[in-house]
Amino acid sequence: MKLLYFDYAAIVILTILLFTTLIRGLTKGKLNRCYIELIIIGIVSAIADSASAYCDNIRLTNMLVRNLTHYAYLLAHSSNTPLLVIYLMIVSDTDYKMRRFKSILYTLPFATVVASLCINPFTGYIFTINDNYEYVRGPFMPLLYVSAFLYILIAIYYLIRYGSTIGMRRSIGIGSMVPLLLAANLIQLFEPRLLLEMFAYAIAMLLVSSLIHRPEDILDIETGFNNRAACIDDVNRCIKNKKPLEVILINISNYESLRSLINAGDMRSLHKMFTTLINNINRKHDYFAEMFHLGGGVFCLEIDYTWYGIGPKVAAQINDELQKPLNFKSMEIQLAPYVCIANCPADIPDAEALVKFAEEMVSAPYTGDVLLATDIFQKKRYDLIRNLDSIIENALSNHLFQVYYQPIYNINHESFNSAEALIRLIDPEYGFIPPDLFIPIAEKSGAIHRIGAYVLDEVCTFIESPEFKDLGIDYIEVNLSVAQCMRNNLTKEILEIMGKHNIKPSQINLEITETTASNSQEALQENVRQLMDSGIKFSLDDYGTGYSNIERISSLLFDIVKLDKTFVNVAGNNNHDIVLNHTVSMIKDLGMKIVVEGVEDAQLLKRFTDLGCDYIQGYYFSKPIPKLDFIEFIKSKNRA
Ligand code: C2E
Ligand code: CA
Ligand code: CA
Repeated sequence: MKLLYFDYAAIVILTILLFTTLIRGLTKGKLNRCYIELIIIGIVSAIADSASAYCDNIRLTNMLVRNLTHYAYLLAHSSNTPLLVIYLMIVSDTDYKMRRFKSILYTLPFATVVASLCINPFTGYIFTINDNYEYVRGPFMPLLYVSAFLYILIAIYYLIRYGSTIGMRRSIGIGSMVPLLLAANLIQLFEPRLLLEMFAYAIAMLLVSSLIHRPEDILDIETGFNNRAACIDDVNRCIKNKKPLEVILINISNYESLRSLINAGDMRSLHKMFTTLINNINRKHDYFAEMFHLGGGVFCLEIDYTWYGIGPKVAAQINDELQKPLNFKSMEIQLAPYVCIANCPADIPDAEALVKFAEEMVSAPYTGDVLLATDIFQKKRYDLIRNLDSIIENALSNHLFQVYYQPIYNINHESFNSAEALIRLIDPEYGFIPPDLFIPIAEKSGAIHRIGAYVLDEVCTFIESPEFKDLGIDYIEVNLSVAQCMRNNLTKEILEIMGKHNIKPSQINLEITETTASNSQEALQENVRQLMDSGIKFSLDDYGTGYSNIERISSLLFDIVKLDKTFVNVAGNNNHDIVLNHTVSMIKDLGMKIVVEGVEDAQLLKRFTDLGCDYIQGYYFSKPIPKLDFIEFIKSKNRA
């Protein structure tokens, strides 16, 4: 008589486990799916086991039922251990390493079991049901145990080999399965009356569930996707194991502004809407992609290696879907998604860089097209950032810096009467390096002071030159960075350079940024006053970006306020217009002139002209250009 109670207990435990896993939403991704398969196979085995044992106990005479239950059990049970090995490969992210030969080798024990079960009706090698309706083990029955044992050996190998990438907690979770299953297998081999195996299996699955499939570790409550920490873990593990990884990064660039419009409850529903949208695409094509929510409007979709290369297609679909207007609570909402494909580590070397990149990719101009990380974030660029200090030093000693000029249009005079000097660095190895990238580094290293002196000297040389005289340019705007403004003998240095070239103070206008102004310390105030006393005028740069500090704008006597391009480019809406109108009239009331930066089209030109602004700077007229081009440009425009 076989004892069935252990099997019944296994069925109950595994069924509860299946339900709780489904209810907790742990269904997405390869690992969760494999785990669910393990549970289901366990339930099937336990049911078949108890059914067959029950039939044996009562010596059921219906041979079909007798045979069916035994075959079902042996087959389901024999697939437990190979599935466990697959599970381990997924946990350790080494499944991609499965080459054909290895996979044939790994399938061999299971295939042998299946083959011997297939021929069993004719040979009776595995089991037979004799004329007394008794279940009798055949001579090859141990084959099934050998197979299970081999898979357990492979599992042990994986645990030892990849223990460090799997992580301690996970290793313990899976590791505890091995002694449990082994013990149960051995006991049952020698004491077939005790149906212990499935019970041990259920207990092992319970352990795995509590140690590995923990939603609190990896789930993002807001979206039901995996969270940021899970993403970093996953990507790093893939990179460590050299698993090819293709990800799609999504950043809803207007997420913050939507959030300020919509209350928290509604925001959650909106969130749900676009996560469902992404999920549906995923599900429709079954790309086996795993979704991560990195926070705010930033998502990462990891494509399974079996679909490697499908990134551009999926990204295009997601991009199209996200760009369609969403009907939300009688509002029509337009998302501005940045969708980017990246391969790791080819494009982006590690998980932290990936997350940072996903967050910052919105600083690229919005085109609405799918972006390629290779284009934006080449590995080269990463090296570049690391080597910037020496690149800057090299540029200083080899005279690689150049000064470009961007014409500034005077609306009242209908001509160009000033320009902004902007530094350019073209490195022989890395090509064009934008100033936004190297200026902050130069500020930290102190190289900014030599750069600043170089720019001013170039500008003064230009102003002093005969070709400048007839251009009709009254002054040149020169940028001063935060660090420069804090320098003790800044005034002396500037006046010295200007004196050397016989430049009048009115010919130079220094631009300082709003952040500089709001962080202002005594040294800065002192510098600015001294320079102002000597007749040099100042512009407040990038107005509208930082925290507009009323105290600063009114205490320092700026000649000009430059409206920042981000402030200018916001699509006109009612509130924005009100803010803009009042900002313009406030600045005018303070007696300051206004330069509008970043004007790229005629429509913006008209808007700011109508508002009564004084100067326009932007691509609409010209990009920053080299000195000789600038001379040509001004000559042709100012003469006309
Ligand atoms: P900034 O002072 O705000 O300079 C204006 C930036 O806007 C320039 O970028 C210019 O090319 C860009 N720009 C002008 N018109 C348009 C337009 O219509 N559309 C768009 N999208 N952009 C426009 P650039 O040359 O890349 O300079 C970036 C920043 O680097 C500057 O911002 C400034 O903060 C800094 N910088 C540049 N040259 C110097 C310098 O000689 N010294 C210091 N300290 N900083 C500099
Ligand atoms: Ca500037
Ligand atoms: Ca600016």
